[in-house]
Amino acid sequence: MTDYLPQDSGERSLWSGTAIADPVAERLQEALKTDVLVVGGGYTGLSIALHLAERGIDVVLLEARCIGYGGSGRNAGLVNAGVWRNPDHVRRVLGDAAGERFNHALRDSPALVFELVERYRLDCDARRTGTINIAHCAAAMDYLADRCRQLEALGADVELIDGARARALSGSSLYHFGGILDPKAGTIQPLSYARGLAGAALATGARLFARSPLISLTRRGNRWLAQSENGEVEAEQVVLATNAYADANSAGVRESTLPVFIFQCATEPLPADVAAAIVPERHGLWDTQPLMTSSRLDASGRLVMSSAGHLQGMQRAIRLDWMTRMRNRLYPQTRNLDWDYHWSGQVGVTASRVLRVQLLAPGVFAPAGYNGRGIGTGTVMGKHLAATIASGNRDDFPFPVEALYREKWSGVRAAYYNYGTLALQFLDRRGPRAKSED
Ligand SMILES: Cc1cc2nc3c(=O)[nH]c(=O)nc-3n(C[C@H](O)[C@H](O)[C@H](O)COP(=O)(O)OP(=O)(O)OC[C@H]3O[C@@H](n4cnc5c(N)ncnc54)[C@H](O)[C@@H]3O)c2cc1C
Repeated sequence: MTDYLPQDSGERSLWSGTAIADPVAERLQEALKTDVLVVGGGYTGLSIALHLAERGIDVVLLEARCIGYGGSGRNAGLVNAGVWRNPDHVRRVLGDAAGERFNHALRDSPALVFELVERYRLDCDARRTGTINIAHCAAAMDYLADRCRQLEALGADVELIDGARARALSGSSLYHFGGILDPKAGTIQPLSYARGLAGAALATGARLFARSPLISLTRRGNRWLAQSENGEVEAEQVVLATNAYADANSAGVRESTLPVFIFQCATEPLPADVAAAIVPERHGLWDTQPLMTSSRLDASGRLVMSSAGHLQGMQRAIRLDWMTRMRNRLYPQTRNLDWDYHWSGQVGVTASRVLRVQLLAPGVFAPAGYNGRGIGTGTVMGKHLAATIASGNRDDFPFPVEALYREKWSGVRAAYYNYGTLALQFLDRRGPRAKSED
């Protein structure tokens, strides 16, 4: 049993309530030597640990709380390819050559997730049923058509669907404009995937410790010495995979992104006839509304929806009320259902909306800032970082590596996002209209 769950106080996470058992109970209580120390037990850290162990490299992972405590145990479970922004945007930010490498590295990221699920038989309700970026209004189709063209130019196997298909695949009469279908993407139980990766890494020879925060990192000769509460680890190289959940002890990571919150709600299991009508082929959906809303069903037929914001204090009532109204508009058959679960989590956002890999000191990597798309990204990042660490050269590493980076005005900008979404949710009384109202 762990002392922690990936949820904050007063919240109840569906994933915490339904995940497979956490395989990592041991706490670091000794002095260890290793080749690579990984800090953070989310997808990035776990994928690095697994891929290093597969190569026979000795690796120790320290997690401050429990496996999947950060975004990896809290997310919506939509296993999508690429990043939020379009491939052309990435090329503009990074330059043509670097942008092209970056885009190609993440183009098929769901394939790696589903391959690991299959190879290690990870019990995480993985469904490669596809995901749909769905339009909430006619004008959004211009954006989606352009995005689809850019993805196809990259070689992605995506398809622009029309309004009738969008309506049929979503089960909502509001989604009648169209969307982009990615048939190779899918959904997972995110915390079970994290715990499954941890089990696979342990079985492959990695040493993983929970409730073992990194407290300090200092140079000892040409190696690094990491202190935890009850033990220490000496390593040649270190990866700070603490991302948006970086605490003050992984300095340099926390400041590199802007903390932005997302919350989720899950209904009671839907009655069979309702479950058959909502997202009937079990795609994962996310829409183009300014307050993006995602929808999916879980293994027991609960409708799981997410949008921007956190659920602390007085904000909870406003946000839950808004989500209930949004749900009732999109799926009126759910009007009388209760939310059984609601919880929130934090994503690391960068001004450029492109992730960053920092080299904080010789041999200390810190990937962060996945901007809300981290299941495939974290898994792919882990595989590439493991290969780079193993080879000792960065020639084939597809992500730009930079020195210390600080997001400017992060506190003010994070507050602006948070209160901006709260104001929109508070003021919204109508939202998108049903077709019959047009
Ligand atoms: C609500 C929500 C919905 C999302 N939906 C999706 C989605 O549908 N699809 C998608 O692709 N992405 C989604 N994301 C984003 C995705 O979850 C993240 O990008 C991803 O999980 C990041 O993984 P990570 O391993 O890099 O970091 P994390 O999972 O955040 O892990 C970092 C870990 O570091 C640990 N840590 C921090 N400080 C220390 C320390 N000093 N010592 C030791 N350990 C430390 C933390 O406890 C934490 O467990 C969502 C995120 C949220 C929050």
